[in-house]
Amino acid sequence: MAAITMKNIVKKYGDGFPAVNDVSIDVQDGEFMILVGPSGCGKSTLLRMIVGLEDITDGDMVIGERRVNDLAPRERNLAMVFQNYALYPHLTVFENIAFPLRLAGASNEEVDQKVREASKTLELDEHLERKPGNLSGGQRQRVAMGRAIVRDADAFLFDEPLSNLDAKLRGQMRTEISRLQKRLGITTVYVTHDQTEAMTLGDRVAVLKRGVLQQLASPRELYTNP
Ligand code: ADP
Ligand code: ADP
Repeated sequence: MAAITMKNIVKKYGDGFPAVNDVSIDVQDGEFMILVGPSGCGKSTLLRMIVGLEDITDGDMVIGERRVNDLAPRERNLAMVFQNYALYPHLTVFENIAFPLRLAGASNEEVDQKVREASKTLELDEHLERKPGNLSGGQRQRVAMGRAIVRDADAFLFDEPLSNLDAKLRGQMRTEISRLQKRLGITTVYVTHDQTEAMTLGDRVAVLKRGVLQQLASPRELYTNP
């Protein structure tokens, strides 16, 4: 776990108006931070700069104690949970969760122990031999999170993970993500354009408009002082 500190972050694509314009946000250790705003406000760009998928034009990105501006994504120890979950259809749940450990050359014993521990937390222990194609949307989301957990990532990053789901499933998944995040106590940054999601999921909400941070407050404060 680690805090994520964005200091005066600027992103310019070409010579146009900055996509992200002098944004400062401090995400506390274990906090669930929402980035919300209309399409094009810069929230995905900001998330991609945290992960390292996008160069930072100006400002400091600090994770824990480290300035990470010049670090490659794999050196940042963050876990991006993608919208489509990016699971391997031909691998079992066990092997999908184990994947990052196998890549890192972990022993079978370590793989076994970590995958079982994570799958217990995620209530997936009865589904370890199944393939992603036979799982519900919620279970797939949990497999994707399991993969992040076994890596001991310092933070979870979500980019509109629920936007392709129907309203009912979206509601269930919101509850599930929120519950898991609290149980794991893992620092989380979550991008959405959905106000309901923003107001129900986050400890705090950062509201962006045309690349500028408009508000940074708890849902309660935003509700009483919109
Ligand atoms: P959001 O995630 O809030 O929809 P984005 O971060 O995707 O917003 O985009 C913010 C702004 O930056 C938009 O004006 C978008 O068109 C622009 N933008 C995003 N990615 C690129 C890119 N690779 N090249 C040029 N402009 C981009
Ligand atoms: P999102 O808003 O979810 O990021 P988009 O459809 O806006 O999705 O962007 C998809 C991809 O296109 C991203 O990789 C983004 O960087 C890129 N992109 C977005 N806007 C522009 C733009 N104006 N010029 C070039 N690439 C862009």
